[in-house]
Amino acid sequence: MDDCIFCKIVNNEIPNYTVYEDDIVKAFLDISQTTPGHTLVVPKKHVADIYDYNAKMAEQVFARIPKIARAIKNSAPDIKGMNIINNNGRIASQSVFHSHFHLIPRYSEDDGFA
Ligand code: ADP
Repeated sequence: MDDCIFCKIVNNEIPNYTVYEDDIVKAFLDISQTTPGHTLVVPKKHVADIYDYNAKMAEQVFARIPKIARAIKNSAPDIKGMNIINNNGRIASQSVFHSHFHLIPRYSEDDGFA
């Protein structure tokens, strides 16, 4: 997708802070950090939203989320929990129409945004 910002990040055409990458997904820091370490996991193949996944792609992408979540959790002892959020459709607050999962670490001292 020529005009997709996350496709451009997948292809390293715009700056990003990648925390994990393989042939299926890329994980990078959200430009607007809800809490420190807020990471987005995106499939490398462009799909707009959850309705676009076929079974194989879902299996491949979803299987990677626990692994990335664990790595984030293990990166800091003060991470006490994690919100994993996937918005689908404008009404559900999706603003970038390349499917992505927010991994938002929660700290004992954060203010409980949600
Ligand atoms: P929302 O904007 O309501 O969180 P989404 O669930 O679609 O909607 O999330 C899109 C996310 O993409 C936002 O958290 C936003 O900060 C992030 N984002 C937008 N542009 C970039 C970018 N260039 N690099 C990293 N993250 C980005």
